[in-house]
Amino acid sequence: DTNRFQAIISHCKEYGFIFPSSEIYDGLSAVYDYGQWGSELKKNIKDHWWKSMTQLNENIVGIDAAIFMHPTTWKASGHVDSFSDPMIDNKDSKKRYRVDHLIEARIDELEKEGKKPEADALQAEMDRLLAASDLPGLKTLIETQKIKCGVSGTSNWTDVRDFNLMFSTQLGSVSEDASEIYLRPETAQGIFVNFLNVQKTGRMKVPFGIAQIGKAFRNEIVARQFIFRMREFEQMEMQFFIRPGTENEWYNYWKEARMKWHLGLGIPAEKYRFHDHVKLAHYAKAACDIEYEFPIGFKEVEGIHSRGDFDLKNHQEYSKKKMQYFDPEINQNYIPYVIETSIGLDRTVLMVLSEAYVEEDLSTPEKADSRVVLRFPPRLAPIKLAILPLTKKDGLPELAREIMEACKPKFRCFYEEKDAIGKRYRRMDAIGTPFCVTVDHQSKEDATVTIRYRDNMQQERIPISEVAAIVNRQLEG
Ligand code: ATP
Repeated sequence: DTNRFQAIISHCKEYGFIFPSSEIYDGLSAVYDYGQWGSELKKNIKDHWWKSMTQLNENIVGIDAAIFMHPTTWKASGHVDSFSDPMIDNKDSKKRYRVDHLIEARIDELEKEGKKPEADALQAEMDRLLAASDLPGLKTLIETQKIKCGVSGTSNWTDVRDFNLMFSTQLGSVSEDASEIYLRPETAQGIFVNFLNVQKTGRMKVPFGIAQIGKAFRNEIVARQFIFRMREFEQMEMQFFIRPGTENEWYNYWKEARMKWHLGLGIPAEKYRFHDHVKLAHYAKAACDIEYEFPIGFKEVEGIHSRGDFDLKNHQEYSKKKMQYFDPEINQNYIPYVIETSIGLDRTVLMVLSEAYVEEDLSTPEKADSRVVLRFPPRLAPIKLAILPLTKKDGLPELAREIMEACKPKFRCFYEEKDAIGKRYRRMDAIGTPFCVTVDHQSKEDATVTIRYRDNMQQERIPISEVAAIVNRQLEG
């Protein structure tokens, strides 16, 4: 539903969640800035993930590695040679496309026409050609499928070429001794190169994990779809180091654990599905995606990968440093295997926004009415509590300020006295504030306020002394 998607994008801009980057210069393609409420939402998601990974798992610790890494890192990881997507240019439109995206669009078309067997056959053929890196075969497939991408007549394609997705820059002054380095395309390598540092200093015993949240950069060619596919984005990754031979067990464990985390966001199970990979990335032994049903269809939010000893073994080879672990339980040295969970923070923001965004018709026979409400789980909401004096006089602002001062050290609050109360409620709905308390004349007499709940718009009177506890209870739940 592209209308819904467009509505969410506009809402994000209008209410201070997400802006196009450097907008006064007409923006920068596939780069976005988080505004005042978007950055709070994103931070809450980060904190929630971080806590569930590190605080709740005694055998997982977090690190924060640099974006710049020694250039050999990306040789060892395989990114210099294999981190590329097959691309094709259309000679008529002068546009460049990712081959898999072109073919996937054709598969969707066939499915919509009710041609399921043809769609499946095309999917299988594409997977086979991608896995074999058969570039001429992919071109033939595009031609025989008569993929046109909006250009009339017979489409005129170039050959298919591999296009590396890493950004590079120079370290040091731009002179002969400057060396070319990359902006990391994934956070994982910062964890692998620190494997021994953390294992030794943290006295970690296999199985254990290292978690990290940080920026990653990819020169995406097809960079559309808002914050779904960006050139600068954030990943939340966890590499779990295990004894070789236990990879199937741990792969299944993390598949299940991660799905449970997603369901814990209050998103219903039918909005998720697993997609097992047929075509495996250069490092993987087994891999699957957790897909969420965005307004633009089911798409990947998180990948779970069984990486074997690919990374540590290659770093051992390139760095000549032993990447082994001595396992006291079986009295053996080995290079641990790795199960990785890798979730895009920005995609998670988009998922949470897509799930929360609701346009509600509140019309009564007497009056047409509607509202847009973001039904965030309270713990992810940018603001938890709005404190609103009914009028600007009679000492109501002073009393409201007292509540504000008492609550603001505990959770994010928002104070506002301008405009009619109904209007203020709607603005809080639009940014997803789960609770509003209104201070009125009765408040001064009996020390109570009206609390209004975002989702059902119900109101009730509660003692001022209970406000913080009521909000806190919801944040824990
Ligand atoms: P895609 O197939 O969508 O390009 P991927 O399979 O290359 O993604 P991974 O390398 O497995 O992605 O990265 C792990 C996660 O990082 C993805 O599940 C996604 O949430 C996030 N991610 C990857 N690329 C981008 C991007 N360009 N913009 C935003 N998030 C991204």
